[in-house]
Amino acid sequence: MKRVLIAEGSEEMAALFRAELPEHEILIHPPEAVGAPVDYMVVGRPSAGFMAARPEVKLILSLNAGIEHLLRSGEIAEQTPIVRMVDSGLAEGMTEWVLAEALAWHRNIRLYERFQRDHRWQPQAEKLAHERLVTILGAGALGTPVARHFVAFGFKTRVWSRSGRAVEGAETFAGNEGLIPAVTGADIVVNLLPLTAETRDIAEARLFSAQAKGGFFINGARGGHVVDADLIAAVDSGQLSGAVLDVFRVEPLPESDPFWRHPDIRVSPHVAAPTHPRIAVVEIARNIKRFERGEAIPHLVDKARGY
Ligand code: NAP
Repeated sequence: MKRVLIAEGSEEMAALFRAELPEHEILIHPPEAVGAPVDYMVVGRPSAGFMAARPEVKLILSLNAGIEHLLRSGEIAEQTPIVRMVDSGLAEGMTEWVLAEALAWHRNIRLYERFQRDHRWQPQAEKLAHERLVTILGAGALGTPVARHFVAFGFKTRVWSRSGRAVEGAETFAGNEGLIPAVTGADIVVNLLPLTAETRDIAEARLFSAQAKGGFFINGARGGHVVDADLIAAVDSGQLSGAVLDVFRVEPLPESDPFWRHPDIRVSPHVAAPTHPRIAVVEIARNIKRFERGEAIPHLVDKARGY
């Protein structure tokens, strides 16, 4: 009987796996699995040494879309494949969060909340979606559905990716040389890139300066993409009117971090697109079955590329 080990999993998740994979033995670490050799490992953010102690594992299945911490751990053998989490729950969650924040900025909803506190009746010049330009950095499992929704709302939409992936109704930009042209004049920039050697620190002064004056920045990807001081400087100078950040270099965000107190930078606690176990487990079980039938598995991590 093949064994599946869930790192730091819950009984609830184990029960979902048992329903999907009745022919497999499902183990939760700790403590059941200690000593038992396993075939597959399901991981979120495993503790140090956990993966290194399991060199026999044939396939690692991530509960998260972002896997940079797994690659950085140095605990996974070169030949062991890793599957990223790509499922409808993540795409739906990220689309809702990005659109909610983008529309709130576009229609001045946060501003009117402030005005209400002071009993100020102060209408703003309200624009329509087709008068705004939105650029999505990343046209992958999350960037693509997000871009489609901006297109559906009528926003002028651009997508930037490594290979120039097209999204119907959006303008396509590709590669390093396409980055600044993609964000030039953008009212809203949404970051949905994976964190790799190439994308670390990508959201910095040059990018913010290229945006439309008074624009908005949305980060739903990773804190390591943003040069924090450059973002604060761009907002303080008025080049950007604000930003919303779901992810940070250090999480939880330390009490001393200036983002907590900035009046025009909104913080959320890494909740844009949480993994929904009921959806994720079905996807992982499907990939284990594909692996056992010798079929191709979608969303395998390219370790050299870093995503
Ligand atoms: P994905 O499907 O791998 O898509 C990544 C996109 O980024 C692709 O379009 C890719 O280009 C592009 N890209 C990668 N490196 C690039 C580079 N150097 N230059 C230009 N484009 C580049 O990833 P995903 O599933 O959409 O997830 C994106 C990230 O979202 C994850 O890595 C994770 O960090 C974050 N995330 C956050 C939350 C949250 O709750 N805040 C939840 C889930 C995920 P190609 O199309 O050419 O390959």
